Amino acid sequence: MSSYTVINPADETEVTVVAHLDVDATDDAVRRAVAAQRLWAVVSPADKALVLRRFAEAVDGDRENLARIEVTNSGHPITQARWEAGHVRDVLTYYSGAPERLFGRQIPVAGGLDVTFHEPLGVVGVITPWNFPMTIAAWGFAPALAAGNAVLLKPAEWTPLSSIRLGELALAAGLPDGLFQVLPGRGSVVGERFVTHPSVRKVVFTGSTAVGKRIMAGCADQVKRVTLELGGKSANIVFADSDLEKAAATAPSGVFENAGQDCCARSRILVQRSVYDRFMELLEPAVAGVRVGDPAEEATEMGPLVSADHLASVTGYVPEGSPVAFRGSAPEGPGFWFPPTVLTPDSRTDRRVTEEIFGPVVTVLPFEDEADAVRLANDTEYGLSGSIWTRDVGRAIRVARLIESGNLSVNSHSSVRYSTPFGGFKQSGLGRELGPDAPLSFTDTKNVFIAVD
Ligand code: NAD
Repeated sequence: MSSYTVINPADETEVTVVAHLDVDATDDAVRRAVAAQRLWAVVSPADKALVLRRFAEAVDGDRENLARIEVTNSGHPITQARWEAGHVRDVLTYYSGAPERLFGRQIPVAGGLDVTFHEPLGVVGVITPWNFPMTIAAWGFAPALAAGNAVLLKPAEWTPLSSIRLGELALAAGLPDGLFQVLPGRGSVVGERFVTHPSVRKVVFTGSTAVGKRIMAGCADQVKRVTLELGGKSANIVFADSDLEKAAATAPSGVFENAGQDCCARSRILVQRSVYDRFMELLEPAVAGVRVGDPAEEATEMGPLVSADHLASVTGYVPEGSPVAFRGSAPEGPGFWFPPTVLTPDSRTDRRVTEEIFGPVVTVLPFEDEADAVRLANDTEYGLSGSIWTRDVGRAIRVARLIESGNLSVNSHSSVRYSTPFGGFKQSGLGRELGPDAPLSFTDTKNVFIAVD
């Protein structure tokens, strides 16, 4: 078996070595999951709910530990990592209500009674990226378990530790053996096996658009269900009639949170030309004020990038001579540090404007009017999130309806609530996670007619 040495991105020290599963070990896990799922499917709805609530309580009791693991493994600032652990608890609590609410329908027909059931799919494979390891895992495993499935979770190679801990907590909380297994390994080995193994009935993939396309194509072979949460290049649109001070003060958090390693990052700021200069004057101190440093410090707002490879990739987008308007700070010395960086490219087709950089780099472009803002915002293959800043309610609604994106916020940068649906338009994804309907995407509808005569 191969392995991966986990590196602390804030100081480049070795954290631990994680063994990687091979195909045979993955197949064993699938066998155990199939057996566990058969038993889980017939557990009463109330008892399923109870077990999921216990899992949520176990996560709650381990919040500080989970958060510390994420600080060390992923470089997330401690206050954000605590929020992430609390979010996992909340997602589990929310979906613990689902087993008793998976209502079918009774449909009026002649000659009998017609009812529908939401049957579990069986074994679900969840493949997660490295940017928000535990929250994204929970968006898959919590509703899938609630709908009566077994779950195999493959964390990203760089950031497996919080997922491994969640697997331990699930067992300690009383989830049946084999029902929820965490399988560290390579995407090309464990992840691919989820796609090809006939007993894995659905793949939930969050990651890059390139890998997502490959997974979707692979799943077609068995008509395997798939949910895809992919890349983004979201727009933060600032109209002249907005609260400009607030729009500028909050723009850094809209893009630099998690060092910009966020699929929802508003990495294109579009500003109406008449207020462009004033906006830039206000943005500069806001960017300089982002507290970048040791993620274990309570006051830190932005930590390092996740790995040396990723630092090299982000750095490649800002070579000498780039149109840098201004930058924030970053520590010197060991660690994968990159300062918040604001670019003002001349062209709307500059690759910094069109490609997902996935680091603390934002481009600012002027626009003329509402139609131009919509055109520019939609001029991307992605469609995940976005923000609209205006005091005109009518404009906010008009623009929100015209932006081709799954998650928009007006006068805020909020994207994710466990109780509301989340997902992408266009090449940002397929299907929706979270919200009241997520468990349904882990079921197939069965229609049963019962003759009365
Ligand atoms: P990635 O596509 O490189 O990897 C994601 C996961 O897929 C990892 O676990 C990896 O091991 C696995 N994988 C790689 N090759 C595979 C294969 N051939 N078959 C099966 N699995 C395979 O993505 P990443 O670099 O970890 O994450 C960054 C990307 O994720 C960005 O594009 C970001 O926008 C996206 N993302 C999207 C969302 C969303 O909800 N839309 C959320 C977070 C991240």
